[in-house]
Amino acid sequence: MKERLMELKHEALEKVTHATDVKGLQDVRVQYLGKKGPITEVLRGMGKLSAEERPVIGQLANEVREEIANAIEQKQANLEAAALEKQLEDETIDVTLPGRPVQQGGRHLLTNIIEEIEDLFIGMGFEVAEGPEVETDYYNFEALNLPKGHPARDMQDSFYITEELLMRTHTSPVQARSMEKHEGKGPVKVICPGKVYRRDTDDATHSHQFTQIEGLLVDEHVRMSDLKGVLNAFAKQMFGEEREIRLRPSFFPFTEPSVEMDISCKMCGGEGCSVCKGTGWIEILGAGMVHPNVLEMAGYDSNKYTGFAFGMGPERIAMLKYGIDDIRHFYTNDVRFLNQFHKA
Ligand SMILES: [Zn+2]
Repeated sequence: MKERLMELKHEALEKVTHATDVKGLQDVRVQYLGKKGPITEVLRGMGKLSAEERPVIGQLANEVREEIANAIEQKQANLEAAALEKQLEDETIDVTLPGRPVQQGGRHLLTNIIEEIEDLFIGMGFEVAEGPEVETDYYNFEALNLPKGHPARDMQDSFYITEELLMRTHTSPVQARSMEKHEGKGPVKVICPGKVYRRDTDDATHSHQFTQIEGLLVDEHVRMSDLKGVLNAFAKQMFGEEREIRLRPSFFPFTEPSVEMDISCKMCGGEGCSVCKGTGWIEILGAGMVHPNVLEMAGYDSNKYTGFAFGMGPERIAMLKYGIDDIRHFYTNDVRFLNQFHKA
């Protein structure tokens, strides 16, 4: 009987070890520990045993039952833990999955050009000054030697808000405001970037809204040669050391004398080509010595103070620098165009 019990124990434990799921384990339980199982059967046959043997076999049978039951319980816990682990593994979210790319914006080409120009003049000691885009007739025209009825006003037709208020046609009013702030005492060294507005019909070279950067220097003993030196330094840094500049006489109401500045054509090196229309030169900006009337109106003694001013269009600079053929590209927000000029 003792051997029979040990045999049953061995068999049952073997089956427990090899059980692969909870159901198989239940089968082992029913088979060995159930009411009709072999161990129960052994216990039933105990009546045939002697009084000495009975408690020994009884104890052994209980021990075997317990051992098998423990083994089943242990195995069941293991199987359940393994099942849970497998489930967790199956349901794991793979956090290494690549994310959806985020469309990264960038700065507009004009912003970059304006900042490049600003940096260049800041390097020469200028300060950046800004002013309102809705401007009074006084600052936009009168303070710049363009009294009411002046024929040169026709070149700068604007959008009027009232008789006396308009969208500024140039950034020159910022110069007038900057001078006024100094109350007749120099020096003034500012560059004024910003948006300006004119009643133009949009085409490849005109836009009703565009940008300007103007510069102004007022001090004692400022000469035309100072203007030329500053513009020459600007042209070489912006377009390359090999570029030459030339000044041509021109007219602006707020400067006297006035000039247009050209730079030598990069495409042909001055020989003449289609880009420079055969002249070897490309017009870049307008400039001149500040008109005495403008100085006086801003409170400066024009016998003591002189100054120069210049103005350019960042669009034109960008078009020349990058070979852009239509000013409207800057404003129509076509990302195929804009993406080409994104800086990291
Ligand atoms: Zn050329």
